[in-house]
Amino acid sequence: MTGKSRYEHFSFCEREQKLNLYILHNLCIHCLLLKALVLKCQEARNMAYCPYSKFPVGAAILTADGAIITGIILVVSNCCTVLCAERTAIQRAVAEGHRKFTAIAVTCDIKDSFVGPCGACRQVLMEFGSEWMVYLTKPDGTYKETTLNELLPYAFSPTHLRK
Ligand SMILES: [Zn+2]
Repeated sequence: MTGKSRYEHFSFCEREQKLNLYILHNLCIHCLLLKALVLKCQEARNMAYCPYSKFPVGAAILTADGAIITGIILVVSNCCTVLCAERTAIQRAVAEGHRKFTAIAVTCDIKDSFVGPCGACRQVLMEFGSEWMVYLTKPDGTYKETTLNELLPYAFSPTHLRK
């Protein structure tokens, strides 16, 4: 009889490609947070206010200390005044005292491609760092992982003002 490896009772996270000591329901803590983030942005999309454009968008931001803050698109009757989901989420997060963020998930109703934040939202997110993970999410919960750096290369950021 062979002895058990001391690590045998730990699980291996395929996504993180490493042994992870924080496993629940076969998901490591990173995967659990990502699953929650995607779910929250989808829930937010369902709360979007867009009776004229009928183009719901939801966003969910993961703060560095593990909080998830959501935002929705809000479109008023002139159809020119749009508050994007990504910016409503970051505004809520900042208003609640958060300044450090690690990820954002965004989703809309487009089923056949991944859609990213608009240019204005990318610039606002850049205000709080360039290393964000960005998850572009379809209605079925599938997502494409990218980064803010990839979405907004050569960006102007607060670091340029400190020089
Ligand atoms: Zn936007």
